[in-house]
Amino acid sequence: MDMPEKIKLFVGECNTYFIDDNVKVLIDAGFDYPGKVDMILLTHGHPDHVKFLKPIMDRNPKCAVFMNIKEVELLIRNKVVIDDRFKALYEGKTKLNSGKYNFEVIDVPAHTKGSVAFYDEANKVLFSGDTIFKDGVGRTDLPESIPDFIDTAVTLLMGLESDIVLPGHGEPFVVEAPSEAPVAEDKPKKKAKK
Ligand SMILES: [Zn+2]
Repeated sequence: MDMPEKIKLFVGECNTYFIDDNVKVLIDAGFDYPGKVDMILLTHGHPDHVKFLKPIMDRNPKCAVFMNIKEVELLIRNKVVIDDRFKALYEGKTKLNSGKYNFEVIDVPAHTKGSVAFYDEANKVLFSGDTIFKDGVGRTDLPESIPDFIDTAVTLLMGLESDIVLPGHGEPFVVEAPSEAPVAEDKPKKKAKK
């Protein structure tokens, strides 16, 4: 499947996406991307998604990291040292712009308490993290999961108009538009008897 313009996929501990735009953006840090990075967006704080955060930030001292504040505990547990380069995301309020792309933050607490997705409505691109994959949904049997919310989270993401979904693991995919509900066949109407 063709990747959207300016977006490259690097497969490491998790899918790591690089947006080669005016602002150089990395979505998750499961691959030790060696080039210049201005901004890192974290879908959540699992170890496979933050594994190379430190070396990337060390090489890019001005790099800002955007994350849901609800993931702080998980990040600390995964030995991430939080400093003033970490910025809190606010659903619907934080707009993240790379130049071509303008992402809105979608809260999808389920896989982890602070899981988020990044969605560009104009370009119809969705970074879904570990909430939806090509062949299923993310685990919700972990201590940091909220299993009761997975249906809501999946419905929310599947309902967004997207040309491509870029997940945290596995291949990018397309959400098939729900086929139109079959029209109920009209039964021959019986003449109302008076
Ligand atoms: Zn995960």
